[in-house]
Amino acid sequence: MNTGGCLCGAVRYEARGPMTAVTYCHCSMCRRWHGHVGAYCAVDREQFHLTEARGLRWFPSSPGVRRGFCGECGSSMLFDEASLPKMAMCAGTLDAPTGTREKAHIYVASKGDYYDIPGDLLKYDTFPGS
Ligand SMILES: [Zn+2]
Ligand SMILES: [Zn+2]
Repeated sequence: MNTGGCLCGAVRYEARGPMTAVTYCHCSMCRRWHGHVGAYCAVDREQFHLTEARGLRWFPSSPGVRRGFCGECGSSMLFDEASLPKMAMCAGTLDAPTGTREKAHIYVASKGDYYDIPGDLLKYDTFPGS
């Protein structure tokens, strides 16, 4: 099981099933929301449980998608796309040891012009399979 939370502790969660490896999202919405690239792990919805939600706020960022953050400390935390069977958690909010590793970069075609992507992970111009 993995646990995680925001900077101040007003949002805490548990991921009670196996998580996907970390995907970096370079889309312009993630870069604005996180301050830079997004990094996500995901777990089946039934395995995702909030253990502290007093700080949790949701921002509807596009149709069918909402982004969860802590209204007290501002940490970006969750990416919830209604049509998908998994809840995505911002990898930086996981407690160590996470037991996971980085896997791929997505939306590389819309990355910022101020950096290059290092390393040899898989790179997708948009979302794989779309
Ligand atoms: Zn917080
Ligand atoms: Zn994104």
